[in-house]
Amino acid sequence: MSEGPRAKRPGFPVKLAANSGVPSANKSINPARIGQTNAAQARNAQIGLQKPLPSGVGLDSQTVRSRMVDKLAKQGLQDAEVLAAMGLVERHRFVDTALANQAYEDTSLPIGLGQTISKPNVVARMLELLREGRSGRLGRVLEVGTGCGYQAAVLSHLAVEVYSIERLRGLHEKARENLRYFRLPNVHLLFGDGMEGFAKGAPYAAIIAAAGGEAIPQAWIEQLAVGGRLVAPMQTAKGQQALVVIDKSAQGVRQTVLEAVHFVPLKSGTD
Ligand code: SAH
Repeated sequence: MSEGPRAKRPGFPVKLAANSGVPSANKSINPARIGQTNAAQARNAQIGLQKPLPSGVGLDSQTVRSRMVDKLAKQGLQDAEVLAAMGLVERHRFVDTALANQAYEDTSLPIGLGQTISKPNVVARMLELLREGRSGRLGRVLEVGTGCGYQAAVLSHLAVEVYSIERLRGLHEKARENLRYFRLPNVHLLFGDGMEGFAKGAPYAAIIAAAGGEAIPQAWIEQLAVGGRLVAPMQTAKGQQALVVIDKSAQGVRQTVLEAVHFVPLKSGTD
């Protein structure tokens, strides 16, 4: 799956565009188009968009991203569309420069205000669960916990519309700044308490949360479309956290508890 980009990748060393710090001046791609094409097309369109990692890393970001995707595949992640989307999004643009050389390692990273960006394996796993049994793009998706905006960017390649809500103003603004570069017209960033969902965008084909509470808020279930799926961390009876999948059908909702995870707490209100 990573063979495509690798095969067509420009030769090494990658040329440093004179204006590499000015995204809008990058002529090799129109990121706005990505949101309207499928992930495979977008991946091809992306070839040529190379912002080298900070010095010391020694590899251009497309290469390290392809390696990250290869590793995810080896770990058992199989959804080709999810892997393609993960291969597209430049994760190093979402973390502090000092952490950029760790951006493609399978590790969670701090994003400020005590919050973390999930490790790639967990992001891919949740997106795979979200898409399970579905073909093509998901319709409208609600993401609770925008954080730095990374997962929203990946989702933009897998869904028709992404509504992403964040309760910390500082991170909401950071995500806006991070995502500006990518110009993804189908990502809508919202500031507010995601425990209430976002009724105006409902019903959602899928809901994904990056923060875990004691229970799944009722608003999420209500705002999930019939036939829709919700994936979120939730506290279990033993006081640990596990991934929970909720499928909503005409007959009602079915909850499946999966593996243990470690997400930041889901909190009410805004700060
Ligand atoms: N998907 C994010 C992960 C961010 S960590 C990324 O790719 O970076 C989880 C985020 O959930 C934190 O930013 C936290 O502030 C936020 N959060 C916690 N409770 C929330 C709530 N009720 N509504 C919205 N966001 C919430």
